[in-house]
Amino acid sequence: MELTTEHEELKRSAIKFVDAEINPFVDQWEQDEIFPAHEVFKKLGDQGLLGITKPEKYGGAGLDYSYGAVLNEALATINCGGVPMAIGVQTDMSTPALARFGSEHVCNEFLKPSIAGDFVSCIGVSEPHAGSDVAAIKTTAVKDGDDYVINGSKMWITNGTQADWMCMLANTDSSGASKHLNKSLICVPLKENGKRAKGVTINRKLKKLGMHSSDTAEIFFDDVRVPARNLIGEEGQGFVYQMMQFQEERLYAAIGNYAGCELAIEETIEYTRQRKTFGKPILDNQIVHFRLSELMTEVEALKALTWKGIEIHINGGDCTKLASMSKLKSTRLAREVNDSCLQYWGGMGYMDETSISRRFRDGRLGSIGGGADEIMLGIISKYLDILPGKN
Ligand SMILES: Cc1cc2nc3c(=O)[nH]c(=O)nc-3n(C[C@H](O)[C@H](O)[C@H](O)COP(=O)(O)OP(=O)(O)OC[C@H]3O[C@@H](n4cnc5c(N)ncnc54)[C@H](O)[C@@H]3O)c2cc1C
Repeated sequence: MELTTEHEELKRSAIKFVDAEINPFVDQWEQDEIFPAHEVFKKLGDQGLLGITKPEKYGGAGLDYSYGAVLNEALATINCGGVPMAIGVQTDMSTPALARFGSEHVCNEFLKPSIAGDFVSCIGVSEPHAGSDVAAIKTTAVKDGDDYVINGSKMWITNGTQADWMCMLANTDSSGASKHLNKSLICVPLKENGKRAKGVTINRKLKKLGMHSSDTAEIFFDDVRVPARNLIGEEGQGFVYQMMQFQEERLYAAIGNYAGCELAIEETIEYTRQRKTFGKPILDNQIVHFRLSELMTEVEALKALTWKGIEIHINGGDCTKLASMSKLKSTRLAREVNDSCLQYWGGMGYMDETSISRRFRDGRLGSIGGGADEIMLGIISKYLDILPGKN
C-alpha cells in the first residue's frame, strides 16, 4: 500500500510525542508496575492520537486503518511493551465495536470521552476459567426493568485497576440460545463520581513476568446495575461483535511486533558493532550478521503479510484469516528475534537495564494474549477448511 506524506507526518509527530512525554518516564513506570494512564491518555487525546480511525462526530479523525497502523508503528518506539499495549486496549480492543455498532447514547457516554483521553477503558472478555474458549464465559447480565444486573468476574484485565469503564462480554440470554447468540457487549462503568462503582471489586493487581508498567486486574461484579441502554448494538450479537473486534486487536499486535522486531535487530546491530571479542566486532562474525540479516528478511515478510490484511480490512473485507496469520507469525517471530538478539548481547542481554531483556520478557505475552497461537492456528485451519470432520 502506498503511504502518503500525511502518514509520514503522523508517524513523525507521534514519535516526537513518545520521545518527549513517554520514554523519559518509562523506567520509573516499569519499576512502579503501573503507569499513570489518565495523565498519559489525556495528553494522547489532546494530540488526537486516541481516535485516529474513529468517527469525527465523536472527536475522532475519521481516517482509515492505514493511519492507525502507522500510529501503532510509532508507538512501538516506546521503550517497553506495557504502555503501547495499554494504549492499544483503548484504541483497538475496547472501542472498535462501540464505534461501529454503538448507539448515539453509548458513543457519547463512552466513546467520546475515551477518544478525548478523559476516560480510560478496558476490555472484559477473559474469565478465570475461560480465556481461549470465549464462548464458555459465565458472567451474566440479566434484564431487570430498565437495567441489566451483572454478576461474575473478569480475569487478566489490562488497565483494570485504573479504567473508568469496561467493554464487557456477558451472557444476556439464558433461554437456551446457542452460546454464540446468547451474549452481548455492554459498556459497564467501573467508577461512579470518581469512586469504585457499587458492586465492583478489584481483587488484586496481578504480578507478571513482563509488561510491568501495565496494570492487570481481576475484577468482580456483584449485582452491578447498568442501564440497559448501555448495550452495544443488538442484544445477542456480542460474540459476533467481539470476534470482529478481535481482528483489530490482532492486527495491532502484529504491527507492534514487526515494528518492535525491527528495532530489536537495529539495536543489536549497533551493540554488536561496538562490542569486540577476539580483536574484532561481534557483528563481523558471519554467523552473527547472517543471522541478523535472515531475521530482518523475516520481519519484511511479516510486514507484507500484515499490510495485506490491513488493506482487506480497509476495503471492508473479512481480514480474519490474514489477521490471524499475521498475529501468529508475529508473536512467534518476536520470540525468535528477541531470543536470538539477546544472545548476541551476552551478559548485558541478561541485565534488566538493557532494552533487549525487556523486549524478551514483554514479548512472551504475544503468543498467549488476545488469542493464543493455537487459537490462531484453529482459525486459519477453519478458513483452509481442514478442520477434522471436513476431510
Ligand atoms: C498480561 C495479560 C493481559 C491480558 N489482558 C486481557 C484483557 O485486557 N482483557 C481480556 O479479556 N483478557 C486479557 N488477557 C487474557 C488473555 O487473552 C488470555 O490469557 C488468553 O486468551 C488465553 O486464555 P487462558 O489464559 O485462559 O489460557 P487457556 O485457555 O487456559 O489455554 C492455555 C493454553 O492452552 C493452549 N490451548 C488452549 N486451547 C487450545 C486448543 N483448542 N488447542 C490447542 N491448544 C490450546 C494454548 O497454548 C493456551 O495458551 C490478558 C492476559 C495476560 C497474561
